[in-house]
Formats: sequence, C-alpha cells, structure tokens
Amino acid sequence: MLKGKVAVVTGGTRGIGYAIVKKFLENGASAVLWGSRQENVDRALERLRQDNPDWQVTGMAPDLGSYEEIARALDSVKKKYGKIDIMVNNAGISARDSLYDYNPEDFDRIMDLNVNSVFRCSKAAAAIMREHGGGVILNTSSMVSFYGQPAGSGYPASKFALNGLTKSLARELGRDHIRVNAVAPGVTRTDMMEAVPREVIEPIVRTIPLGRLGEAEDIANAFLFLASDMASYITGAIIPVDGAAMT
Ligand code: NAD
Repeated sequence: MLKGKVAVVTGGTRGIGYAIVKKFLENGASAVLWGSRQENVDRALERLRQDNPDWQVTGMAPDLGSYEEIARALDSVKKKYGKIDIMVNNAGISARDSLYDYNPEDFDRIMDLNVNSVFRCSKAAAAIMREHGGGVILNTSSMVSFYGQPAGSGYPASKFALNGLTKSLARELGRDHIRVNAVAPGVTRTDMMEAVPREVIEPIVRTIPLGRLGEAEDIANAFLFLASDMASYITGAIIPVDGAAMT
C-alpha cells in the first residue's frame, strides 16, 4: 500500500510508533524512525533488521524541542531519499497527577512535546512536501481528546489542541495537496500502559464494548490506511480506534 513512499515517524522506537514503522515497512515504504535517545533508536533498528534485513529503515534522535534540529534532520532525509511523503507525529508523554499536585513545569513539558513539536515537525515537513507536489501528515491523538479525563488535565488538553492543529492544517494545506489527519487511540497495550496497575486496567476493559485493550497493531492499521492513497479524499479527520470506549 505504500510502495515507493518515504515516511518519518517520531516516537518510533517502541509502542505505537514502532508498530507504525513496522507496518509501513511491511507495506513497501522506506522509513526513518525518530526517538528521544540514539541507543533506543539503534535497538529498534536492530530489531527491525532482524525481522527483515531488506527493509529500508534508518533512525535518528533529533531534539523535538528545536525547530532548527528538526529542519536539519528532515533535510537529511530529503537528501537521502529525494522527498518526504509521510510525516507521522507520534511521540507523546502524559502525567496523571491531580490539579492540586500538578507541577506546572510538567504541564509545559507535555504541551511542548505533544503540541509544539507537532507544529515544528509539520512546518518543516510541509515545506518539503509542497516542493514535491504533496504528502500526508498524521498525528497521534487520543480518545481523551473527546472526553477529557478525571486527572492529569495536561494530557487531554494537549490532545484537544492537537486535534485543533490537525483540522486547521488540513484546511490550510489542502491546496498544496497535503492531507492532515489524526488517529485517536483508546487504551492501547504499550510501555505507557505497563506503568498502570491491573486494578486500574481491568475496570477499564469492562467498559470497552469490544472487551479488550487495543494492540499497537490495531492503531498502526489505521495509520496505514490514512497514509495510503486509499484515503485520498480524507483530510481533517480525527479517527477513533478505541473499541467504542467512552472513558
Ligand atoms: P510509549 O511511551 O511506548 O512511546 C513513546 C515514544 O515517544 C517513544 O518512542 C519515545 O522515544 C518517544 N518520546 C518520548 N519522549 C520524547 C521526547 N521528549 N522527544 C522525542 N521522543 C520522545 O508510548 P505509546 O503508548 O506508544 O504512545 C505513542 C503515542 O500514542 C503518544 O502520542 C500517546 O499520547 C498516544 N496514545 C497512547 C495511548 C496508549 O494507551 N498507549 C492511548 C492514546 C494515545
């Protein structure tokens, strides 16, 4: 579904981002995975190359807090492959503290990675995509971007903002043939969730009509569809992939 396409995926070293990279490679794309630390990037690359030594995959660890560093990293991808077709803004962090205990610096840190860095990557990637006649920007939102959550307000606030950025960029960049969409996962089994105790997870599962947590591959499948030409008339959409969960 992605033969000949070039994709960059932030937060691609594990969890949902790793599943997206793998799914894209299985479908013929060349992929560049980004992570926060070079050793994690190297470990992820090694795992992927063990799965299939023919996959075209490389990795980098640019600082997502720096527009200059992001622009330089994307420029190096353009130099290597001649273009960028797909930019996946997936890296994200959360915290579940109550408002009374919330450290204001944590709120800023969450907003900076989950929103500001998406703006930075989209700005640098769109400039390259426009030169080559278009592309696709995909963002990882969350089901909490529809419902909020009863603690840890910074995280849902960041994902509501991300949805706004997604819809606005879709309207702005359509004329440059750049589609912009987001996937909103429900509770998905990744490292982010491993930290959550079973007694918290089990009641959540009971409220999910499909009766199970999401797997990273469930989410990656939606990214594959949106990245592909099958979604050629879809832009500005926030697609829930959450088993119809409502918490
Ligand atoms: P994870 O913690 O397993 O992976 C997070 C990824 O982000 C890692 O690759 C990590 O290297 C990267 N990252 C973290 N901090 C970074 C930083 N400062 N700079 C650059 N990269 C950084 O998380 P996950 O569960 O796979 O989450 C991926 C995305 O999915 C996030 O945006 C998250 O908000 C979203 N999401 C997750 C769930 C879930 O239940 N797991 C549900 C809804 C949405």
